[in-house]
Amino acid sequence: MSSIISKIMDFFYFSHVKEKSEREIYVTDLAECMQKREFYKQSSIFPAVHGNIVHFAVQSLLLKYGFKIEVPIEYKLKNGYVLHGRVDALSPDNVPIEIKTTSNIKIEHVFQLMVYMFVLKSKSGELLYVSNNTVRSFLVDKDNIQSTDTGEVFKNTIVINDDVLNNYANMYLEKKLIAHLGQCKECWFKDRCKYAKL
Ligand code: SF4
Repeated sequence: MSSIISKIMDFFYFSHVKEKSEREIYVTDLAECMQKREFYKQSSIFPAVHGNIVHFAVQSLLLKYGFKIEVPIEYKLKNGYVLHGRVDALSPDNVPIEIKTTSNIKIEHVFQLMVYMFVLKSKSGELLYVSNNTVRSFLVDKDNIQSTDTGEVFKNTIVINDDVLNNYANMYLEKKLIAHLGQCKECWFKDRCKYAKL
């Protein structure tokens, strides 16, 4: 590996990969289908360097406008574990922003943002999609998801509360957190997955 590539990898990938400590669960652990993670591990998909570079660029800009970035959150679960997460950006009036580099909104993203909103006691949050030549965003509250691009409003079907978080955390620890958000229809692996619920 050339020295410039190793510098890029160190900064934009390895510095983001953190060893999980004992009794720690990440918000993203609860958002993703565990079977999907298995498929990713078996595939040759390159680590998310591009996504991390986009995050870094957008966060650097938001910092200039008074946002906090990489804001840690934690939530104590009943089973003794602690749920951890890092909000990409938090506005001065406590609105969490999640930056994504996919072209489409995904139910896992809404879940992740809703967990941050729950822990931070925020009434709304924003999903910001930065991909190729487009920047779009969706405003999320407990009832609705609204595209700021088209104005279209969708019903928000995700509910986050203490019971949901504890239930999903236990399913995760039992390795049973599969297709729990109804995310199969938009999953890349649905055609070869025996657990797909279509
Ligand atoms: S098809 Fe459904 S169950 Fe299978 S990996 Fe994808 S999200 Fe998970």
